[in-house]
Amino acid sequence: IRKGEYIRDILAGDVGRPVVAHGWVKTRRDSKGIHFVQINDGSCFADLQVVIENGAIEESVLKQVTTGASVRVEGELVPSPASGQPVELKAKAIFVYGTADPASYPLQKKGHTMEFLREIAHLRPRSNTFGAVFRVRNALAKAIHDFFQERGFLYVHTPIITTSDCEGAGAMFGVTTLDLMNLPRYGEGPRIGEIDFSQDFFGKPAYLTVSGQLEAEIFALAFTNVYTFGPTFRAENSNTPRHLAEFWMVEPEMAFCDLQDDIALAEEFLKAIIAKVMDECLPDLEFFNKRFDPQVLETLEHVVKSSFAHVSYTEAIEILQKSGRNWEFPVHWGADLQSEHERYLTEEVFRRPVIVTDYPKEIKAFYMRVNEDGRTVRAMDVLAPRIGEIIGGSQREERYDVLLQRIRECGLSEENYWWYLDLRKYGSAPHAGFGLGFERLMLYLTGMKNIRDVIPFPRTPGSAEF
Ligand code: ATP
Ligand code: MG
Ligand code: MG
Ligand code: MG
Repeated sequence: IRKGEYIRDILAGDVGRPVVAHGWVKTRRDSKGIHFVQINDGSCFADLQVVIENGAIEESVLKQVTTGASVRVEGELVPSPASGQPVELKAKAIFVYGTADPASYPLQKKGHTMEFLREIAHLRPRSNTFGAVFRVRNALAKAIHDFFQERGFLYVHTPIITTSDCEGAGAMFGVTTLDLMNLPRYGEGPRIGEIDFSQDFFGKPAYLTVSGQLEAEIFALAFTNVYTFGPTFRAENSNTPRHLAEFWMVEPEMAFCDLQDDIALAEEFLKAIIAKVMDECLPDLEFFNKRFDPQVLETLEHVVKSSFAHVSYTEAIEILQKSGRNWEFPVHWGADLQSEHERYLTEEVFRRPVIVTDYPKEIKAFYMRVNEDGRTVRAMDVLAPRIGEIIGGSQREERYDVLLQRIRECGLSEENYWWYLDLRKYGSAPHAGFGLGFERLMLYLTGMKNIRDVIPFPRTPGSAEF
């Protein structure tokens, strides 16, 4: 594998030893025959300062060491006289792998807008901001796996291509089989009239999954505690800063559990993974705090230490009605909570994450367990200040007869869900779970404003270029 060390380890290392560093040049500064070059390899927020003394490196090489170039630097690690960095690398030899024309390199020292950086998705990860975003994303994914693995949950891969339309989660993407070789004008792309949509998935209709939950339930009723963590797809044809057409969801599912256990797990889970990321990525989070949201670190520290607010849907509606606000979306029992309501509850009433439970069954999915009152279901949403809904969960309906009735009431196809119903015939058990929008939590952690800026390749209407 790679020769040399990560810059993260070099910066933490002892002085006086030989070092080989690889990376991309961030900046270069020349002063009276001595050159200061900052290089970064993505392993940490900080750059490694390379000091090139007069005559140490051949002039023909030195002139290629410019912003954007990829380099190998061999030298000695010495104490740095500059403040803010303990060590620097005194260069003895430099090899330039790939040059970059400083005049046309898009990542110049000045700050760039998020929109501009999205347009250069191939260079975006080299910027300070997106270096930090993707390190946090990696740490968060690892924290999630660690959390479940440490508690004995089985990681199950649920299918991407499905034939169930899950929960009426909105519009889905269909799967189409295109026999490109047999199309006239191969290479130009098919014309709409030439696509045979009846041949979706080898002759059957199929969709890209909107959630792995239904399939995860099968595994929970065999392995007790399971989770899935994969991409999900929704044809959200609207431009909001919180919706993507392709996003990642974390979905634990637990047998022999009720809604209270589910809520307890969600709260413990969020606190544990946030604490882990704060531990692992502090310099990145400090950068977000400085650059994007001066409240981010304080908020996260508070969330880890204090408990969430808990209200029933009915109580939430009462609070909203008593607020004296002029809501854009009217508040009445039976209406779904909109972003303005979620923000009011989390930012003004409770000033922390809020878990809302027991929603009217009409605004929730068919599989949620019906309460004794016959009107509400054992559902819970976790709402976060600034973001709104980050988790949606519920206890599932484990009773065959009630589930069948719900499927009929909701106008869904019994044949499509035969296996889901059948599961309730043999050793059914109470079970519960939730779905966390991975990018929604990323927004919360980073203080970024737009969900497009916390995923490597955002998929939204009009953007799938990369
Ligand atoms: P919303 O009300 O925000 O549209 P939802 O209720 O439709 O969300 P669920 O079906 O409950 O979403 O999905 C579980 C979680 O997945 C949500 O709590 C949210 O965090 C996340 N999520 C849902 N839709 C999207 C999307 N289009 N892009 C990113 N994350 C999403
Ligand atoms: Mg939605
Ligand atoms: Mg919702
Ligand atoms: Mg939801």
